[in-house]
Amino acid sequence: MNSHLQILQQYFGYDNFRLEQANAVENVISKKDTFVLMPTGGGKSLCYQVPALVLEGTAIVISPLIALMKDQVDALRVNGISASYINSSMSSFEQNETLTQLKNGQLKLLYVAPEKLSADNGAFLKLLNDVNISLFAVDEAHCVSHWGHDFRPDYLYLNGLKNQFPDIPIIALTASADEITRKDIIKQLNLQNPLVLVSSFNRANIKYFVQPKKSVLQNIIQYLNEHPDDSGIIYCLSRKGTEEMSNNLRENGINSAFYHAGISSAERAKVQEDFLKDKTRVMVATIAFGMGIDKSNVRFVMHADLPKNIESYYQETGRAGRDGLPSEAILFYSNADVIKLKRFAMIEGNEEQSELMLRKLKQMSDFAEMQKCRRQYLMEYFGEKHEGNCNSCDYCLSDFETFDATVDAQKLLSAVYRLKERYGKTLIIDFLQGSQSVKITDYMRSLPTYGVGNNQDKNYWQNLITQLLIKGILAESNEEFSVLKLNDESKSVAFKDKKVIFEKVKERAKAVTVAEIETDYSSPDIDANEELFAELKTLRREIAERENVPPYVIFSDATLMELSAYLPNSKEELSQISGFGAFKIEKYGEIFLPAILEFCRKNSVKSKISGKKPKKVREPKKAAKSTSGTFATTFELYKQNHSVEEIARLRSLSTTTIQNHLSRFVESGEIEASTLMNIDKIAPIIEIAKSQTIQSLKVIKEQLGDDFSYFEIHVAIAYHKWLQKSNIIF
Ligand code: ADP
Ligand code: ZN
Repeated sequence: MNSHLQILQQYFGYDNFRLEQANAVENVISKKDTFVLMPTGGGKSLCYQVPALVLEGTAIVISPLIALMKDQVDALRVNGISASYINSSMSSFEQNETLTQLKNGQLKLLYVAPEKLSADNGAFLKLLNDVNISLFAVDEAHCVSHWGHDFRPDYLYLNGLKNQFPDIPIIALTASADEITRKDIIKQLNLQNPLVLVSSFNRANIKYFVQPKKSVLQNIIQYLNEHPDDSGIIYCLSRKGTEEMSNNLRENGINSAFYHAGISSAERAKVQEDFLKDKTRVMVATIAFGMGIDKSNVRFVMHADLPKNIESYYQETGRAGRDGLPSEAILFYSNADVIKLKRFAMIEGNEEQSELMLRKLKQMSDFAEMQKCRRQYLMEYFGEKHEGNCNSCDYCLSDFETFDATVDAQKLLSAVYRLKERYGKTLIIDFLQGSQSVKITDYMRSLPTYGVGNNQDKNYWQNLITQLLIKGILAESNEEFSVLKLNDESKSVAFKDKKVIFEKVKERAKAVTVAEIETDYSSPDIDANEELFAELKTLRREIAERENVPPYVIFSDATLMELSAYLPNSKEELSQISGFGAFKIEKYGEIFLPAILEFCRKNSVKSKISGKKPKKVREPKKAAKSTSGTFATTFELYKQNHSVEEIARLRSLSTTTIQNHLSRFVESGEIEASTLMNIDKIAPIIEIAKSQTIQSLKVIKEQLGDDFSYFEIHVAIAYHKWLQKSNIIF
């Protein structure tokens, strides 16, 4: 085994390098310059951390985000690596202490804030002459370029680095660089013949959903209730919006906080810290929140309002699932948001800028409106090919049917024509539907096309317009109030009867329900034990509090998930768990092993480590079906007349999990509700449930009292859904 793979395993507890990590590591070790472009969460840090351990001397890491710096150093120390950082938030005494360690060669890595480069006429850079340096890593390297979106003047001090240290390799890393910025970074840092490594921007573990912006609060609450263990971020456009949303969530018993630039910096730091340390479950925030958020177990990112452009959307959704576990991005979309944002995009006296912003906004709304694989759209936006059919976006997960829309298209085109191509979507739809709006003049009402479209609802016309635009059968002007226009294609449909065949969504996929998440969560071959998982999380939180670092710095959720699935019984077996390096086995093994052993004893189960395949390269997972895998197994046992408790014991899963599985089959009509609960209890439950605007099990339970269990409520609601689906009731 080569030395760097050994280091990866020994210190970081990972079996394989990801993406371009191995190439980057090798290149740096052979002392050559390297440029790494990798998406957020791709694993940029290891590209220089592993070489830092292989090479002699200290690695100097330039990193602009103080909060991140501390996290990184904490995470390294937890792995038994001597690392430190230096920035202006520290006292000069602390800074000097660190510099002494540096001069004495006691550090493998030193993180430096860019302002340290310019301070005292570059004293720090001078001091480096007396230090044995292994490599320079320039993190967030786009900050060196005027072309990037986050230029920092202090980064310009890095220009002279190569001259001062011609023999020391530089590795520049960024997650956001287009072609021009990329070239500029290489030029500014004076990289010598660098190896340029570009990784795919596809975040395979993130599912993308776009949903109409209707009953947003209800939808969000329902989602949160269905995913009770998940933590995440909800982005809102305005400060007031975040406060309202967070208060509403709290009123519904959800642990949440809000964050925006209008609250004091002390308060912001506190709110952020609580979120990082898993004390706050849901963070409702403006875009001010996020830079430097390295929390790895963010399970969902929602946009209650539309982001301004694809870059922001991608970056914000990218904060989900850094640990590689399945995560979700959910965008609530409405055309009204587009209109609102258009107003913000118009910057007086700067036409060029306004035009650019409008174009970017248009691309954002196209993403939401297009009938196309969302992932494919994103990848193509960033200049990467993707064949679509990702099977993990709402489009790919929806059911479609085709239909002939020729007549409706003709009605629409004729309306545009009759109104002399002078109006936008909203008025055209009002006109088609025969609306009584004051915007419709008497003249308009006198036209023969007025009201011919009242056979269909607004949504239908909205979709048809979008699809006609995408297929180039209709055009739209690009100005603040865009106007629909006809083109040659429109004419061949309107006058020559050219057929228009469209896809209509039969069943739109929505953000998945709790049961599916569970299947995805567990590793492919085996189920995680929820009870144990929760217990291990508690242990992790205790350690984190003792060491005063966020929990994910100790172990990621992915590691705990593996522990609770494979139940390692010894230190030897622990070494096969991803994330358990030698140092962590020694340090934390004694804390986690007893809990696992006790769990095994209590439930009479054994270690399942022998069933673990050594492969841990993360691959995109297929969307789970309710009828496959773990569900099917539960169903089989149920059919063999085992009780819930027996199935739970046989499968070493909690009874709650089994109950969730079974409710699923009630909803699909495969299990009769009466076999699981007293049938007389169903009606009162449904009664209460129907009186709630928000389907929160907790609220329903509170109203029903102790005579009803969560399981009974769950089953009754599932039964009710089945009745609705099969059109027995409405
Ligand atoms: P980036 O800086 O590119 O956003 P990080 O370096 O913070 O990403 O890595 C993101 C997460 O992925 C971290 O939790 C890290 O420990 C994990 N990770 C990185 N490389 C690997 C690997 N080869 N195997 C397993 N996990 C990894
Ligand atoms: Zn897709």
